[in-house]
Amino acid sequence: MEKARKERTLIIMKPDAIQRSLFGEILQRFERKGLKIIGVKMAKISDVLVEEHYSHLIDKPFFSSIKNYMQSSPMVLLALSGVNCISAVRLIVGPTKGYEADAGSIRGDFSMSGQSNLVHASDSIETAEAEIKRFFKEDELFDYQKTDYALINAEEHF
Ligand code: ADP
Repeated sequence: MEKARKERTLIIMKPDAIQRSLFGEILQRFERKGLKIIGVKMAKISDVLVEEHYSHLIDKPFFSSIKNYMQSSPMVLLALSGVNCISAVRLIVGPTKGYEADAGSIRGDFSMSGQSNLVHASDSIETAEAEIKRFFKEDELFDYQKTDYALINAEEHF
């Protein structure tokens, strides 16, 4: 039996999302799904943060290319919360390579690239919590009741 778990996740709208004016389109997909926005801001990513965020790729030959890409313009950072939202958001975003992503996902609809794939989304509870702490201060996060919560999250017992 799968347990319904309230989770938080971090989204980055990467520089190509901003340059291609896809901020509203991407945000709307998360809003329409019923996720709660608990933090939002615009920022440029520092050397230290990009190396920390993509530490699992730091030894790859393409790391300097990723770093240049991530620092090429400001990004929008979003913290979202919702029941089982980490895996739900990864489905909305699609797999890494845009040209392999299903139509209907963000990368499937708007990206043809393995690097310039518009969005980052946390991949586990541990990374989500670490990533939210990496990019948001405590007072930049908001815990509030949303009036549509019961409509979106029925009493389900899978
Ligand atoms: P994801 O973002 O889907 O979780 P990864 O954590 O594997 O994927 O990679 C992080 C980011 O690094 C990707 O979203 C993409 O922007 C970039 N990237 C990954 N693999 C490559 C590659 N082979 N060439 C260029 N950029 C890559």
